[in-house]
Amino acid sequence: MADNNGCLVCGQDPLQSDGCRVAVIYIEDEKYMRIPFFGDLGERCHDCNALSGHYHHWGCDAEICPVCRGQLIGCECNEVECPVIVNKRPGRKATDHSNLQK
Ligand SMILES: [Zn+2]
Ligand SMILES: [Zn+2]
Ligand SMILES: [Zn+2]
Repeated sequence: MADNNGCLVCGQDPLQSDGCRVAVIYIEDEKYMRIPFFGDLGERCHDCNALSGHYHHWGCDAEICPVCRGQLIGCECNEVECPVIVNKRPGRKATDHSNLQK
């Protein structure tokens, strides 16, 4: 999991949300629908806290790769990218943390 507070792609705090709002993933320049977490009714993912029927937050170790059906973070597919990175327009400024004094 990421070591900051929010999910990389949807920006939500995984502990405060029902699942990721981003439904797509890019693998080798192809767009795929992500595979949601399916557990028992009301069950939450052990890693990213997504509610059953919702998408995993980015970097979850339980997310399934839509291409090879293996574990996404450990599968053999190349160029697995989230839409935030793919859609980033040139010139669009990323969040600036340079003024933080910590
Ligand atoms: Zn998310
Ligand atoms: Zn998960
Ligand atoms: Zn894969």
